[in-house]
Amino acid sequence: MTEWSPRTKLVHGGVRRSQYGETAEAIYLTQGFVYPDAETAESRFIASGEDEFIYARYGNPTTRMFEDRIAALEGAEAGFATASGMAAVHAALACQLKAGDHIVSARALFGSCLYIAETLLPRFGVEVTFVDGTDLDQWRAAVRPETKLVFFEAMSNPTLEVIDVAGVAEIAHAAGAMVVVDNVFVTPIFQRSLALGADVVVYSATKHIDGQGRCLGGVVLGTKDFIRGPFETFVKHTGGALSPFNAWVMLKGLETLDLRCREQAANAARIAAALPGTPGLVRLIYPGLDDHPQADLARRQMETGGTMLALEIEGGKAGAFRFLDALRILLISNNLGDAKSLVTHPATTTHQRLTPEQRAALGISDGLVRVSVGLEDADDLIADIRQALARV
Ligand SMILES: *Cc1c(COP(=O)(O)O)cnc(C)c1O
Repeated sequence: MTEWSPRTKLVHGGVRRSQYGETAEAIYLTQGFVYPDAETAESRFIASGEDEFIYARYGNPTTRMFEDRIAALEGAEAGFATASGMAAVHAALACQLKAGDHIVSARALFGSCLYIAETLLPRFGVEVTFVDGTDLDQWRAAVRPETKLVFFEAMSNPTLEVIDVAGVAEIAHAAGAMVVVDNVFVTPIFQRSLALGADVVVYSATKHIDGQGRCLGGVVLGTKDFIRGPFETFVKHTGGALSPFNAWVMLKGLETLDLRCREQAANAARIAAALPGTPGLVRLIYPGLDDHPQADLARRQMETGGTMLALEIEGGKAGAFRFLDALRILLISNNLGDAKSLVTHPATTTHQRLTPEQRAALGISDGLVRVSVGLEDADDLIADIRQALARV
């Protein structure tokens, strides 16, 4: 399987076919497993082999197919699926931290990631230093000998800053710190963060991997030592396991992930090329455009500009609301990565709890709108955005 190209891995990777020879992967909707004799039960509790399971909180054949397929794509030795993206982020951090440890995190984080880094971890005695993730000098100044790990989103939400994974990894590794990357916004298709130097990559499978708005899920990828060691121990005892049904949805989602992400990114690039200069639009942020602040890095690190855009609408909150309310195809939703194009106004939804000063520091103005580009016809999307901008 290792020599297969990504698309082949996404269709055939990790398959565990039963004695019935089914074409589509089976859903093993079972909590537990039975043993032919007491000796087998005993030996399985001492050490379970690759295809030996004991309880669905520890692992399940359908879940394992999903884990192996995404691990094959990412080039990871192992993966472990979780009930949601946040269960993945929390466990990836908490499984290796204790009171007295220090971590460094980028400041621009998804809201729940920020809660974990800013509120939850300090409550358990972990010290957190926040930096501007795009500034390598800040990372350099923040890491210390006792820094256990660094954490960041490879592309930040909602302003789509691109963080230099290899650059941060070099700094972190020189200090003996582990690199944990939330790769959701760039997708597993367009950037292989492990190959760039990350030690652990985390996904919310809820986003592009499902891609059709159905199930919550997450996955953590890394070395066999990390996943089958501290990570699995933490998750199997704290209960963040993914449901086998949801694992099956994610597994089937992987089969079309490459096609969907490339179509969505092509749509995003077409919208990004068509809109600048349209009255009502102050600024358009897209990592695939030359005027993006990290355009060179984005070109080096990502295969495309990705599936996300940010638009700065004229007239602040009132202008942004008039724009959102006038859209006919793009839907107002804080989700992303979906086949349906989704728009959100971060200042009043996902980033509502921040103070105006905190939002300003992250570049989240009252006119900023985040767009997750879907699979609709690009011309229809451009026409919809144009007619809504005309109403601003
Ligand atoms: C959505 C998201 C998460 C959390 O994932 P859930 O599946 O909603 O728990 C974490 N990080 C990023 C960047 C996300 O977009």
